[in-house]
Amino acid sequence: MKFEVTILGNSSATPIFHRNPTSQILNINERLLMIDCGEGTQQQMLRYGIKYHKIDHIFISHLHGDHFFGLIGLISSMHLNGRVKPLCLFAPKELQEILDLQFKHSGTIIKFPIEFYATQVKNSEMILETNDFTVETIILNHRIPCTGFIFKQKIKLRKIIKEKTNQLEIPAAYYPLLKQGIDFTDTSGNIHKAADLTAEPDIPRSYAYCSDTVADGTYLHHLQDVNTLYHESTFMYDMVERAKETFHTTALEAGEIAKTTNVEKLLIGHFSARYRDLTPLLLEARSVFAESYLANEGETFMI
Ligand SMILES: [Zn+2]
Ligand SMILES: [Zn+2]
Repeated sequence: MKFEVTILGNSSATPIFHRNPTSQILNINERLLMIDCGEGTQQQMLRYGIKYHKIDHIFISHLHGDHFFGLIGLISSMHLNGRVKPLCLFAPKELQEILDLQFKHSGTIIKFPIEFYATQVKNSEMILETNDFTVETIILNHRIPCTGFIFKQKIKLRKIIKEKTNQLEIPAAYYPLLKQGIDFTDTSGNIHKAADLTAEPDIPRSYAYCSDTVADGTYLHHLQDVNTLYHESTFMYDMVERAKETFHTTALEAGEIAKTTNVEKLLIGHFSARYRDLTPLLLEARSVFAESYLANEGETFMI
């Protein structure tokens, strides 16, 4: 099953050096989920071939503009393109008021339902569960309420080995049972072991998204053993005092978090406008955690 993330924006605060404010697209088996929607996100979607109609879920971490100023434009474009199916929006509750005000004064009546889910600011919670995956929030520590998100694939079913099942006459209704590991008994009473006719399922994978936060350690238990961690790394460690004042993280701290929580891969992003060249941030993260990568715009990472 496809499980990958494409970076649309990796800049903090303002667009600069051809970098855009934060947005990412998560592809879970061809269902696209958007995480944050900074200014410029629509142009980035066009640039990287992301289709509006494939997005049914949008997750907004917090209400600093670099994480949601693109949303009103995106929703308007969906409306103008004739969308009718619902859009699920997970965000701090005040976003509802902001959107309503913008639609009210522009005389816009959106033609499709927006199913708004107000995220809690004090406690982590599961906000979405489908057949394939779950989404939980992570309470981060920023200047205003901010949640990260963790996307987890569900435990999967065993995989049918067709070369073996084709040799038997197995009624269609038995296949779901075989995938659950239940043996098949044929009409003569012979038992065929599910373990022989099926292969082990893929191990479920997970992606954690930690946008703006000070690296205070309070949320690390959520990140333990995730496969891919995105963590903001606004500054380098020589700016750690500035990072603490503004409730942000340094690349070194992001690397330490990745190491402590035993993740497989770290993506760093949300870079300050003071860095034209991002290589020093990458090297700093790699000095403590080798599997660190820059969340470069347009790049897609397998999770
Ligand atoms: Zn930000
Ligand atoms: Zn912020």
